[in-house]
Amino acid sequence: MLQNDIYEFYRNLDRGLFIDNEYKKYAHYDQALPIGFEQTISQPSLVIEMTMMLDLNKRCRVLEIGTGSGYQTAFLAQFAGEVFTIERIAELSKKAQKRLSKLGYKNIKFKVGDGSKGWEEHSPYDRIIVTAGAGNIPGELVNQLKLGGKMVIPAGKEELQELLLVIKDENGNIKTESLGPVRFVELKGKYGWH
Ligand code: SAH
Repeated sequence: MLQNDIYEFYRNLDRGLFIDNEYKKYAHYDQALPIGFEQTISQPSLVIEMTMMLDLNKRCRVLEIGTGSGYQTAFLAQFAGEVFTIERIAELSKKAQKRLSKLGYKNIKFKVGDGSKGWEEHSPYDRIIVTAGAGNIPGELVNQLKLGGKMVIPAGKEELQELLLVIKDENGNIKTESLGPVRFVELKGKYGWH
């Protein structure tokens, strides 16, 4: 079962590899930790939950907004076919690329830029995951989601968001489900917080 595979992957992946500052020693705690540039690596329990909600398989092409440390990206690359990940801070993207290529992943394409607009070139995507908090669900991301696709996105106020599961059915109708309160750093950019 995929759930067990995700837990096993979590147990075998050293989160410390994704942290290169004084917080590295706290890598094994289930807590968000600073990774520089006022950004954070999410707590493992949330990364596991979001990965599960995406219901991935090897045929999935996934768009990720907010590469950050690359920790969540590793879960996506492990359980999906192809991953497209966007990060606005070049230094973070570069470090994530190094870590993930060292781990041997060859199914990830990286981009530095504003992910609130999505990545039109490779759309539509089977899955989209946003790992920064938006005010509203960016319409461009909904557009770039395949029919029958799923998106996980924290949306709401700057201090506290709700984790949303957005499902686009075969007719293009959108259904949104809330999975509880979460706290992420801000999604910036054109369709994020300015
Ligand atoms: N999933 C990451 C967590 C990243 S924190 C991890 O596991 O480490 C959120 C990231 O989103 C930050 O690195 C931030 O720079 C990035 N971000 C915020 N707004 C963005 C945007 N519009 N486009 C791309 N990345 C963005």
